[in-house]
Amino acid sequence: MLTSIVGINWGDEGKGRMVDLLSKDYDIVVRYQGGNNAGHTVVNEKGKFILNLLPSGILRDTVVNVMGNGMVIDLKHLCGEMQKLTDAGIKITPANLKISNKAVICMPYNVLQDGLEEQRLKDKKFGSTLRGIAPIYGDKYLKKAFRVGELLNMDLLKERLKGIVEWKNLTIVGAYGHEAVKYDDMIDYFMTYGMKLKDYICDTGVYLDEAANAGKKIMFEAQLGALRDIDFGIYPYTSSSSTISAYAPIGAGIPNHKLDNAVGIMKAYSTCVGEGPFTAEYFGEKADTLRKAGGEFGAATGRPRRVGPFDVVASKYGVKMQGATEIALTKLDVLTGLDEIEICSAYELNGKEIQEFPFTDVLAECKPVFIKMKGWKEDISKCRKEEDLPKAAYDYIKFIEKATGCTIKYVSVGAERDEYLIMK
Ligand code: GDP
Ligand code: MG
Repeated sequence: MLTSIVGINWGDEGKGRMVDLLSKDYDIVVRYQGGNNAGHTVVNEKGKFILNLLPSGILRDTVVNVMGNGMVIDLKHLCGEMQKLTDAGIKITPANLKISNKAVICMPYNVLQDGLEEQRLKDKKFGSTLRGIAPIYGDKYLKKAFRVGELLNMDLLKERLKGIVEWKNLTIVGAYGHEAVKYDDMIDYFMTYGMKLKDYICDTGVYLDEAANAGKKIMFEAQLGALRDIDFGIYPYTSSSSTISAYAPIGAGIPNHKLDNAVGIMKAYSTCVGEGPFTAEYFGEKADTLRKAGGEFGAATGRPRRVGPFDVVASKYGVKMQGATEIALTKLDVLTGLDEIEICSAYELNGKEIQEFPFTDVLAECKPVFIKMKGWKEDISKCRKEEDLPKAAYDYIKFIEKATGCTIKYVSVGAERDEYLIMK
């Protein structure tokens, strides 16, 4: 069985915690896109972990984890992340972690370039996570990137590096007037960090193809959400990779296999990190209260997240783009205590209400249409089945289910592994 776990919204929906929970029934968890700009927070009996590059299945002894060809990997960051987990008692070996030889290496000069460009843009900046992600995906498509498998043939890599450093300095020095990138520093980067990862590198496509053919259960873990997808999100305020389900088999290395289902992770309210139109956005005190209640500060960057009520228009679009077959609604407990809960039920554009998620420029002109539902005051964090929920919470879930057109199967009511319920 092949299942994707994907974000319906702008990211930070709680994918990590759902992968941690649902991976108990899976043999393999694969990350198929993105880099260490992600932050997946997992809280379980082993502790609290923030994973940037490693698949969230790494916390389960029974799961093999794969970093797919669709990823961009900062070698230094990965070594640091592995060390942190090892220090916390998590065992990481080539038996439970496999890195695709076709995954792309995010270089120190990509991180530098990311920062230089945001500085140049000043108040027009994109709100990049400054991890080099856009520059390295750019390099990938320009065919100037290094792939992880090249670490296994250093002589060839060293030869190629000469030309690449020369080319990169045309931008770093020529365009930005920054000090040149040094060849020796890049060799250091490969030798210090790349060599530590050598034993983990393999053709993960072959491994996954054999596993899928043998009937193994494979889960694909997405980073970010549908609205950050490079093609279908709020471009140019998107990530630089394909965050959608349909890309999972490609970014994992098995484009010849089809997904059986897609679990869409959808937040009970809205959050958005970085710039770009965010129609339902709250400001001032209302925003502060929700941000605090939800602990909405970036897991990778610590930045305060922009917040707002649940957005039907954006979420319905997210459900469709992800081809979601079922939904996990997360962080419902955060809404506890409100007299009334707002929902953005439509957008208003030129005096008309619209339901279709529009093109980015048009989106920036849309105003939110809010409706109100009854809130609840009862603590729902101990609810473990549908019947335990206060009526208002149940009604809220059912409203969202109907409005977005996809079955809500799971509802999470706390960050810990067992703080969730399965709807009938
Ligand atoms: P991801 O990027 O989609 O994996 O999500 P993040 O980890 O960036 O953000 C989700 C945050 O919400 C994390 O801090 C989780 O520990 C926390 N979280 C997840 N599910 C719940 C929930 O049901 N209730 C509460 N209160 N927190 C949750
Ligand atoms: Mg996150």
